[in-house]
Amino acid sequence: MSQGDYGLHDHVEMKKKHPCGNNEWEIIRMGADIRIKCIGCGQLVLLPRRQFNKKMKRIIQKND
Ligand SMILES: [Zn+2]
Repeated sequence: MSQGDYGLHDHVEMKKKHPCGNNEWEIIRMGADIRIKCIGCGQLVLLPRRQFNKKMKRIIQKND
């Protein structure tokens, strides 16, 4: 599965861990910017798509 295959509500792992110790995020909005939510603490982060592509490590779980 390539990195470009991510979609809404997929769970992804980022290269850098969140300070809360969690490293699983849910994609909750997709557009020019991508909004992800930390599964551990619920914090929302908005990243430009290019930056997201660079920081995302892998898709953990596809939303089917
Ligand atoms: Zn967190």
